Amino acid sequence: MINTNEVLKKYGLRLTKTLGQNFLTDINIIRKIVDTGEVCPSDLVVEIGPGIGSMTAELAGKAGKVIAVEIDKNLIPALKENLSAFSNVTIICGDIMETDLESLTKDWTGPLKVVSNLPYYITTPIIMMLLEGNVAWDTLVFMVQKEVALRMAAKPSTKDYGALSIAVQYYSDPKLAFTVSKNCFIPKPDVDSAVVKLKKRVLDQAQDIDKDHFFKVVRASFGQRRKTLLNSLGNQPFVPGGKERLREVLSKLGIKESIRAEELSIYDFLNLSKELSE
Ligand code: SAM
Repeated sequence: MINTNEVLKKYGLRLTKTLGQNFLTDINIIRKIVDTGEVCPSDLVVEIGPGIGSMTAELAGKAGKVIAVEIDKNLIPALKENLSAFSNVTIICGDIMETDLESLTKDWTGPLKVVSNLPYYITTPIIMMLLEGNVAWDTLVFMVQKEVALRMAAKPSTKDYGALSIAVQYYSDPKLAFTVSKNCFIPKPDVDSAVVKLKKRVLDQAQDIDKDHFFKVVRASFGQRRKTLLNSLGNQPFVPGGKERLREVLSKLGIKESIRAEELSIYDFLNLSKELSE
């Protein structure tokens, strides 16, 4: 296991909060994350933000190939040295949001997994980029703030359930794997963390829907989550016929008029969008 403090000292590195640099120092947690991804030799693993390579080394020992994308050029010499024993790691210095992952991964014939202790300042944009983009991932394993993990895996009628839950559950089957104490990092983050595993899925019910319309309905419904659906959706431009039509659709679907967004499952939203866009 890489000794984080020693590496930081040797290379004169200072970790920056603005880049979300909280490095994992507990090898058991690192191994648990890699095990959660069930990483094996047929896998190509993309690691977002390898830092000084503590998790990259564990990934490289199990995966066929690892592509590690790190934005901070100051970390690259330490990262290269720490991974010098592995011939299956490609290090890319760049911003993951600007990296063409599609072309970097397109020739791999086995499963593509993305495993990351995500930089917290940019968690949701990275997740949405992967969910909505064209990178052919099979499994995503992320360490995120515990609160975000709970929102991703939340079920209807709970306080954590919202537009993020629906977006994640549209593209994947999310599972909360385990929580991680602040004490497992240098420096300690302000909040506890959790690991989530998102396994790709294509919902049968989503096959013939207008995705843009569906997400407009979801966003508008949760945008005003205290209101009933009739009030949050009734006057939206993408609901032709307004409240009257919405009343008819709710009645056809057997949904009560006083329903609020947080009580509806993803399947209810899919049916609602299908009916409203017809
Ligand atoms: N993987 C290491 C670990 O677990 O110890 C470091 C994780 S740390 C939470 C997040 C890492 O992401 C940092 O090394 C940071 O420099 C890097 N990072 C931040 N923003 C990034 C971006 N937009 N693209 C790529 N890497 C980024």
